[in-house]
Amino acid sequence: MHELATHERDIVPQLVDQVRRFMAREVDGAAIDRRGVIPESVRSGAASLGLFGMSIPEEHGGAGLSLRAVCDVISEMARADRSVAIMVGLHAGLGTRGPVELGTKAVRDAYLPRLASGEWIASFAATEAGAGSDLASLRTRGEVVGDTLRLTGEKAYVTNGGFASSFTVLARTPGFGGARGHSLVFVPRETPGVEIGAEEDKLGIRGSSTVTVSFDGATVPLDHVLGTPGRGMEHAYHLLTWGRTLMSAGCVGTGRAALDAALAHVTTRRQFGKPIGDFAATRLHIARMAARLYAMESVVRGVADVHASGGSLEAVSAIAKVFASEGAFKLVDRALQLQGALGFLEGPGVARLLRDCRITRIFEGANDVLLLRVGLARLAAHDVPRGHILGVVPAPLRSAASEVDGLAERLGEVVADVRARHGVTAVRHQLVLQRLAVAEISLYAATNSVLGASSEEQFALASHATDLLIEEATTSLDALSRADADERRALAMSEVLYAPYRDGRDAPGLSP
Ligand SMILES: Cc1cc2nc3c(=O)[nH]c(=O)nc-3n(C[C@H](O)[C@H](O)[C@H](O)COP(=O)(O)OP(=O)(O)OC[C@H]3O[C@@H](n4cnc5c(N)ncnc54)[C@H](O)[C@@H]3O)c2cc1C
Repeated sequence: MHELATHERDIVPQLVDQVRRFMAREVDGAAIDRRGVIPESVRSGAASLGLFGMSIPEEHGGAGLSLRAVCDVISEMARADRSVAIMVGLHAGLGTRGPVELGTKAVRDAYLPRLASGEWIASFAATEAGAGSDLASLRTRGEVVGDTLRLTGEKAYVTNGGFASSFTVLARTPGFGGARGHSLVFVPRETPGVEIGAEEDKLGIRGSSTVTVSFDGATVPLDHVLGTPGRGMEHAYHLLTWGRTLMSAGCVGTGRAALDAALAHVTTRRQFGKPIGDFAATRLHIARMAARLYAMESVVRGVADVHASGGSLEAVSAIAKVFASEGAFKLVDRALQLQGALGFLEGPGVARLLRDCRITRIFEGANDVLLLRVGLARLAAHDVPRGHILGVVPAPLRSAASEVDGLAERLGEVVADVRARHGVTAVRHQLVLQRLAVAEISLYAATNSVLGASSEEQFALASHATDLLIEEATTSLDALSRADADERRALAMSEVLYAPYRDGRDAPGLSP
């Protein structure tokens, strides 16, 4: 489990090593953050290393690496700088998977070689000012005119948009391949009618380009439609599985940077006559950070395994995205706490890491919304939650495996109970779905952590990670049994809050 494919075993560690040296030599994360731009030299350096072609098939000039290998590279990049990792990760995932997997021969032949070399950088444009989590409400329209598609509308928050040469655009295309259908379209930047807005001023990943892109009658040949007309929404969600997995890999890199920083600090910073790392409470924090990071990495590798075996990434990539982004934020926050006042400073501390990773809990699907999807998927699934791993693990992992099996059994019982109590109306019970999802995610992470461990050190990490995850799952399942009452209380409370607010008064609280 979690192994690189045989043909990649030699090349991927070498590539990761090259990337590590490239990032250390060429990338000044603080300067990128300060200036809000990635220097051209970094882009061209990444291109000469072949990073823009990693996931593009060899016949189109790329390296055709597996998802697992691309994750390893993105993780290493993110460890050094998240803006640069996002530029490459977005290109390798959401930006180019459309033409690679769904493009016509004309599109693949014409554009993939340029995208593989890094001459062209790719982007993905689905979100609009009025359509975020509710993507189906988007308004950008594609109209068939002869043998062309004419696009009108405006996309928001387009990563890489400021310097991208291509956009994978999701548009409403009524009547084209389905009465209420959407289609995914490959649009070169040079197309007349494509206008790029100003760069957004952001909290973090400030070097990453984020712009509005408008399409004012931008017209492309019909063969630039990606996949089946009318099935664009489904195709976009398919591309998001790659996007979310690579983003999760980036979160592993951020988490590793946080652990690096925490270790460097607690081993050298002395208080009360000794290094703060000598205090038991500090040691426990470091152990929990290492265990969580190990679990995050195991989850990402688990998703890559599913891909390598031809399985669907839809559910597991959402699980990875939530787990890795929440985990990275927890790790960075803990590193900052351990660094004390120093952590709060922009130069020596992890302040930039904290700002950079905050967005990962929002983009490519806000975590609150993804939790609902993961919960629903568990309720709708025919299989029972995975367990039964006790019989397949080595002796040092038996206790952890038995805990995992116990959690799987309890989750199975809770799912049966929720189905019996709510039936199809469960979809309306958000707290039930989200709490179920937390347990499902913890189970997936614990299972992958245990099954992927293959050394003494990893046995220890996996056991510790399991303790942590079982604790989180148990808290969530306990809370699930109170979900109906919590929901009633929250709704009653919101009546008290909203009514005065809507009437223009302050929300209730203690009077001055
Ligand atoms: C830096 C950056 C880069 C981005 N890059 C891209 C890109 O390249 N391409 C692209 O297409 N988009 C991109 N996005 C957009 C991003 O994917 C969206 O921001 C994201 O999908 C969430 O949409 P929203 O911000 O409109 O949030 P909203 O949908 O408005 O949601 C806000 C909050 O409301 C709550 N909420 C919403 N719906 C529900 C619900 N059903 N139940 C309960 N709670 C709910 C959640 O708490 C959620 O966090 C980017 C955004 C940023 C900031």
